[in-house]
Amino acid sequence: MVSNKAVFIDRDGTLNHDPGFINRPEDFSFYEGSVKALKDISELGFQIFIVTNQSGLGRGYIKESDLAKVHDKIRVELRKNGINISGILVCPHLPEDNCLCRKPSPYMVKCAADKHEISLPDSFFIGDRESDIKTGKNAGCKTILVLTGNGRETLRKSDIRPDFVVEDIREAVTILGA
Ligand SMILES: [Mg+2]
Ligand SMILES: [Zn+2]
Repeated sequence: MVSNKAVFIDRDGTLNHDPGFINRPEDFSFYEGSVKALKDISELGFQIFIVTNQSGLGRGYIKESDLAKVHDKIRVELRKNGINISGILVCPHLPEDNCLCRKPSPYMVKCAADKHEISLPDSFFIGDRESDIKTGKNAGCKTILVLTGNGRETLRKSDIRPDFVVEDIREAVTILGA
């Protein structure tokens, strides 16, 4: 049986500029090279999931309908480039909600893995924060810290040990392809 593998990728600071809460499509812009990187990841045979904490929803800073528009923009732009992502997984809760899904909980990753029959040890989690690396470790994936977004601060302040540290999502592709 062929095992499915996936790359779970944080959104803000990993794929796109992070100006704080993004509630309009025009405020969302991919880093240069992110779309090409996602294309390469997809061509390497990985399913792609975006996994994002959006506490702005729970705080009332972002409406669900606005987030849907932002995510539609992402899907459209990726589809234009021949990339189909398998899902955008969102935790809308505040830290103090103590929900099941908020990263570093592996809940969203594990649910997606069950549904899509993904082998987590063959999969990767890529992100710029400690919570991303913890999510990957908690789910049993390999982990890659990018130094975009909050990545440099994570590297400096956190004692978490990602499996790999790379400049950005483009460089992460070289690890996935190795
Ligand atoms: Mg991030
Ligand atoms: Zn949640």
